[in-house]
Amino acid sequence: MSRHDVTVIGLGPMGRAMARAFLGRGYRVTVWNRTAHKADDLVGAGADRAATVHGALAASELVILSLTDHHAMYSALEPAVEALPGRVLVNLGSDTPEGARNAARWASGHGAQYLTGGVQASPPGIGQPGFSTFYSGPRDVFDAHREALEVLTGTDYRGEDPGLAALYYQVGMDLFWTTVLGWLHALALADAHGVPAGEILPSASSVLSGMPDFLAFYTQRIDEGEYPGDVERLAMGVASVDHVLQTARSAGIDTSLPTAVLEIFRRGAAAGHADDSATSLIEVLKKPAA
Ligand code: NDP
Repeated sequence: MSRHDVTVIGLGPMGRAMARAFLGRGYRVTVWNRTAHKADDLVGAGADRAATVHGALAASELVILSLTDHHAMYSALEPAVEALPGRVLVNLGSDTPEGARNAARWASGHGAQYLTGGVQASPPGIGQPGFSTFYSGPRDVFDAHREALEVLTGTDYRGEDPGLAALYYQVGMDLFWTTVLGWLHALALADAHGVPAGEILPSASSVLSGMPDFLAFYTQRIDEGEYPGDVERLAMGVASVDHVLQTARSAGIDTSLPTAVLEIFRRGAAAGHADDSATSLIEVLKKPAA
């Protein structure tokens, strides 16, 4: 076993991209996947196929987990816990911060060290410059394996708490999925009028490329709890979202997304924020809905 041995468990699109990146950098890569044939192309490219999870864990100190969630991790590793002592598990699959803390305790109870990761790249970005992954867990373990982890993406260490990387990752996903859904709803609205997605690309890109300036303008105000309506007012936002909803309804498309957005805007206005900026809605969102 050497510093250039790594095991990758889980060969969905992400795990396969990771195994390929390690192979490309000369690592001896051992792979295991529940559905064994997904390892075929990697074996053709030089990876070692472990016949069992036990064999995959025994092959390398550094073990990358690229599984759907923690449930998949426990399903895969529980049958082979006797191979865990001395291993460094780097879990790059998505799950909750509390789930990550529980997984770290579970790994430690079986003699393994544990890092949580949150990958901010899609599979084609793995091994390419310009991408980063959040990590958290023991600093010395992260430092000892940083070089290998940087084969995949840049690294952004957030702290010792194993939940932190999962938290930063979920914050990013919260933003990502709602943005994607907003985009898809807008495309459905355009499609209802015979306008294809390609026609919308320039205006959609323009809206999103303005977001960094929007965020930069409002971030400090939000941290200070200040929402002056000097640039836009929530009352204007209520009318605007209502226009989106009516346009969607007339088009005969799904209206559940703008309906939910309008309901939140109206709650903000009812709570006394009509003359404040729409960013005052964060005060509505900080509490569970009644
Ligand atoms: P997939 O869901 O496509 O692959 C997940 C892997 O988990 C497969 O190898 C699958 O095995 C395995 N798996 C699922 N359930 C079990 C189980 N009960 N027992 C054993 N193995 C199981 O995910 P991706 O490869 O796309 O992503 C992996 C992780 O990375 C996810 O947590 C995802 O959220 C995260 N991620 C993905 C990104 C992406 O763009 N794809 C971007 C950033 C993060 P099998 O082949 O047998 O089904």
